[in-house]
Amino acid sequence: MRGILQLLIMFFVTGVALLREKLSTRDRIRRLQRNKLRRLVRHAKKNVPFYADLFKDINPDTCKLDDLPPVTKKDLMKRLPDTLSVRGITKEEIVWFSQDAGSIGKFFRGKYVLCSTSGTTGMVGHFMSTQTTWSILRGVEFARLLRGRLAPKYIFKYTVLNRLKWAMLVATGGHYITYLLMKLSPGIVNRLAKIRPFSIMDPMHKMVAELNEFQPHYLHGYPTFLEALAYEQLAGRLKIEPDFISSGSEPFTQMARSVLQKAYPGVQMSETYGTTEALSLANQCAHGRLHVNDDYVILEGVDDNYRTVPFGMRSRRTLVTNLVNKFQPIIRYELNDSVVLFTGQPCPCGSPLRVVEVHGRSDDTFFLMDQDGHFHAFPPIPFEVLFLQVKGLKQYQLIHEEQNHLRVRYARVEKHPAADVERQILESFNGYLDQCGLAKTVKVSVEEMGEITRPPSTQKVRQIFSKVKAPPNAV
Ligand SMILES: [Zn+2]
Repeated sequence: MRGILQLLIMFFVTGVALLREKLSTRDRIRRLQRNKLRRLVRHAKKNVPFYADLFKDINPDTCKLDDLPPVTKKDLMKRLPDTLSVRGITKEEIVWFSQDAGSIGKFFRGKYVLCSTSGTTGMVGHFMSTQTTWSILRGVEFARLLRGRLAPKYIFKYTVLNRLKWAMLVATGGHYITYLLMKLSPGIVNRLAKIRPFSIMDPMHKMVAELNEFQPHYLHGYPTFLEALAYEQLAGRLKIEPDFISSGSEPFTQMARSVLQKAYPGVQMSETYGTTEALSLANQCAHGRLHVNDDYVILEGVDDNYRTVPFGMRSRRTLVTNLVNKFQPIIRYELNDSVVLFTGQPCPCGSPLRVVEVHGRSDDTFFLMDQDGHFHAFPPIPFEVLFLQVKGLKQYQLIHEEQNHLRVRYARVEKHPAADVERQILESFNGYLDQCGLAKTVKVSVEEMGEITRPPSTQKVRQIFSKVKAPPNAV
């Protein structure tokens, strides 16, 4: 019953999001944003201790966006229970749930959604919402991701003529948002479409064999992972013909886009700019532009002092406000992505939503060599997952120092001994490399740091990066 109610909420929001994009104007959306923001600030100041302190001099009835102090993940995680609008949930309970394999795909305390991420700072974050908020955010994502494909001809093709086969290439071993999108779906969704997860932690040859058997119509994954997979298609090992590919969590690089176009000529691609903190921030339209979901989030491009950068200029950081989540409000929350926002020329698609360009994460794909001298592409995401499984880790960095030498730098939570953290890192890395047939040829070294800071001279965070050039035959 609860599943059907959530599904109805999701479809209702899908309809609203589609209609609003067709019928609304920029001014109306701006007014909607302002009203939603003031309601959120009022709620947060009254019910959430963290914001009660932060907003003590703020008047919710008159405040403007830039009156509100920005917050970071570190700020929120330091006072995690105080960032929630109900009392009595402890940090220990959240951390325990997030690390308990048996809880994956379940609701926290039977009713809340909990997603964990390490994001671009290498610091683990926990973000929670109610099921209703989750359904609303899913509705927005559904409407805007598939905006052009919710047309009758596609609906007919994938309901009457075929049962849609949708392959989700996701991190399956934790409370990761994309996996939860699937795991926490009402059962009826799985009857309408065959949505199947493929673990990005599996060795590539296993995933290739499984995808060849499944033959998906739709493919969804991280751009860097889709890129690695496209190399398999170009090499002739992967033989699939998807007609729609969507990506999320990281911006699409030009390189990934061109490799995918080469591997699957004629395929439609749609990019999502998303985060665990607010799900879908922007989705691509048929004209290739990323439109911000301005009616559900506020995205700001700012400089190092959190001053708004002019439209059309590249920001140093980004602030996001999730206008839907009242359970754990996210208000002017800092992301390390650099963005360019445009408001001038309307997009030919007619959407009143602003256009954004994302110059975000710059994590690298590693090319590791097997015993026979063949190179294999390893996108950064599986490594990120390995780190998330380590208990007591505060921050990390992974460097492909020289060919087949991976160097891990980490900072730990004080109460966890260094020897224990290092053992876990080595065990998870060596276990993964062993599965991929590379344990004998790839060396992993680990070193502890007090804190990993962002170099002041560079704009981009380099969390997982390679000092080794890609082999010439990789493209
Ligand atoms: Zn457009």
